[in-house]
Amino acid sequence: MDNDRYFLELALEEARIASKGGSIPIGAVLVGPDGDILSRGHNRVYTMHDPSWHAEIDVIRQSGKLLMDKKYKNKCTLYSSVEPCPMCSGALILSDIHRVVWALSDNYLGALRIMKDGQHFRHKFDKISSSPEPYHDLALQSEALMKEWNVNRGIPYVVSSVHTNNK
Ligand SMILES: [Zn+2]
Repeated sequence: MDNDRYFLELALEEARIASKGGSIPIGAVLVGPDGDILSRGHNRVYTMHDPSWHAEIDVIRQSGKLLMDKKYKNKCTLYSSVEPCPMCSGALILSDIHRVVWALSDNYLGALRIMKDGQHFRHKFDKISSSPEPYHDLALQSEALMKEWNVNRGIPYVVSSVHTNNK
């Protein structure tokens, strides 16, 4: 789906903004049922000194009022440059987001696939659909940003996507 590619590219643009600002290079875009962009955001953990200010939380907070409106409830798609972590996966389902698409799977901190397979919030996780790594080249772009971030901080590179996309 070309729209997926377009929105993932915007999420990567946001990831680069986060990186330039000195935070973890992850970006997100929240899209409404008509394909309208509700919010764009990025990781601000280091710029705002808030460990919970992840890209997904950023867009959810910006669009909180809309997400609680029945016109949008269970109808929005969240795009992220990296697979959502446990906190963001929880926030996504509590926000009744319908679908989540990410550029790069993360077998270390990513959690949506694991949580969807598990038993927690079964009634909510059953409703959310996900599209991991639909585009190999965008996965590589996101991976390069994450790798640069970790290397610059002297952390061993830990995002370990297996690039299991079918493309
Ligand atoms: Zn997160």
